[in-house]
Amino acid sequence: MSIHRLPPEVADAIAAGEVVERPASVVKELVENALDAGARRVSVEIRGAGRSLIRVADDGAGIPNGELALAFLRHATSKVASLADLEAISSLGFRGEALASIAAVADVECRSSGARIRIRAGQVLEEGAAPAAGTSVEVRDLFANTPARLKFLKSEATETAACLRILSAYALLYPSVRFEALVEGRAALATPGDGDPLRALGAVHGPAVAAEMVAAGNEAPGAAPRVFGFVSQPRLSRGNRDGILLAVNGRPVASRPLGYALEECFSGSLERGRYPVALLQVELDPALVDVNVHPAKREVRFRDEGAVFAALQRAVRAALSGAEAYRLPVAASAPAPTRAATLPELHVARPQIESEPGLAAAGPAGLLRPLGQVMDGYLVAEGPDGLVLVDQHAAHERVLYNLFLRRLAGRPPTVQPLLIPIQLDVGPEQAAAAADHQAELSALGFELEEFGSRTLRVTAAPAETAVGRIAEAADDLLATLARARPDDARRTAAASLACHSAVRFGDRLDAAEQRRLLEELEAADDAVTCPHGRPTRLVVEWQELKRHFRRNY
Ligand code: ADP
Ligand code: MG
Repeated sequence: MSIHRLPPEVADAIAAGEVVERPASVVKELVENALDAGARRVSVEIRGAGRSLIRVADDGAGIPNGELALAFLRHATSKVASLADLEAISSLGFRGEALASIAAVADVECRSSGARIRIRAGQVLEEGAAPAAGTSVEVRDLFANTPARLKFLKSEATETAACLRILSAYALLYPSVRFEALVEGRAALATPGDGDPLRALGAVHGPAVAAEMVAAGNEAPGAAPRVFGFVSQPRLSRGNRDGILLAVNGRPVASRPLGYALEECFSGSLERGRYPVALLQVELDPALVDVNVHPAKREVRFRDEGAVFAALQRAVRAALSGAEAYRLPVAASAPAPTRAATLPELHVARPQIESEPGLAAAGPAGLLRPLGQVMDGYLVAEGPDGLVLVDQHAAHERVLYNLFLRRLAGRPPTVQPLLIPIQLDVGPEQAAAAADHQAELSALGFELEEFGSRTLRVTAAPAETAVGRIAEAADDLLATLARARPDDARRTAAASLACHSAVRFGDRLDAAEQRRLLEELEAADDAVTCPHGRPTRLVVEWQELKRHFRRNY
């Protein structure tokens, strides 16, 4: 093919691809425009996971009469004019690309300041008058002309959840703006817009979470970054980072260093794999941060990252030192039976190891003769080839992983009904995963009921999961399913549940349990490693013992 300039519709679709990855990108851009226009009220309607309809209406300043068509041209913006403006951006938008990009891949109708325009796949179809206050943008048939993009969309529930997630982020960052969202005709989010960030937090995460938040902030001298917001007390935590929202100058950002700065403040008070809920805003001179580094403006670059990192940690540490103290228990050398009783709520009696009927080779059974447990973490056994040390957590994980995989392939689960259902506050992506993966969840033994838009009730759980660990197991399972690739969902779900259900290092096992675990490990496929690939056992061969003790006969 000779070199040629691309026709405008192709060039536009390419450019649009950078800005509009999925329905949630449309929601983000339109909400940003509403906020830039000074809206006090933003209402959003989503149908068909954003593919049928995304409608964002605001009561902001509006697009001046006669400029409506202009607003849809690429690089047409009212927010920056010169290169110098780019150095210190104070609005959310600045590239003048969003409306053009959306109109390139959808059917868009916009009404503002008495005028109306309809554009489809980049072509203006209609222009006219429309008496209405504020601005409304209706986007229909998203990606109808870019089938490749359609193929990359996840399930409806996941795409809807992503839309709600970005909307929730702005609702949290702009508590004096009233946000309302209708999803498939049902109210999915409503913030009071009264300027109280804790009430916005309550509307997004539920009142129970809002009640556990402590204010974090620092008054920064001079040009130093200012930090303000809320973090959860360590007794509230989640199995994923979905509850963490970091923002820079009013813009939600994905920043590894800032995320790390936050998480580091919780090390020692949260177990590995547990994360806080946090809403933290960094405010600094716009000249000290570059927001023009990512197509969807998700990432930012700081002139002095260290200063921001330090300011955030100072604010969070000060907040936590005022919060109720909570420390992970130091491994005690006292006998185990009393330990469960003295642990804080998060640490619970360990699961029992019980064989599934007919599963383990139960005869005079087993090639491994149990000799005992050391360090409350390793089983010692005599095997045919040598002395065997078994990592009890890794071994149990392997056994349960295989079992859960069999259940996902159709073997009926052993279920424990919960007399008192466990209430679970979940993020939108987890709620979506619960709806999407009902079949897998019930195959594993979970029964979940919707109990409000962000709350689930667990009414039954796999028999293998200790009652006190059901909440964290379900929480992590839903987060795992939300992230999983469709072809990998079963494997990762089984691994997540196995990890939460297995005995842990520090759990003391009685002789019968030791024997059962060894038997099940021997009967298990792929018993050499746990599902994460770590070894389950170490064999010290008899030959090696002999050699060591110089018994050369
Ligand atoms: P950007 O936000 O980067 O300027 P957009 O393509 O999103 O680019 O919007 C182009 C222009 O249209 C904006 O600069 C703004 O002047 C106008 N505009 C878009 N949406 C709204 C709205 N909801 N209210 C008022 N003006 C708007
Ligand atoms: Mg914009």
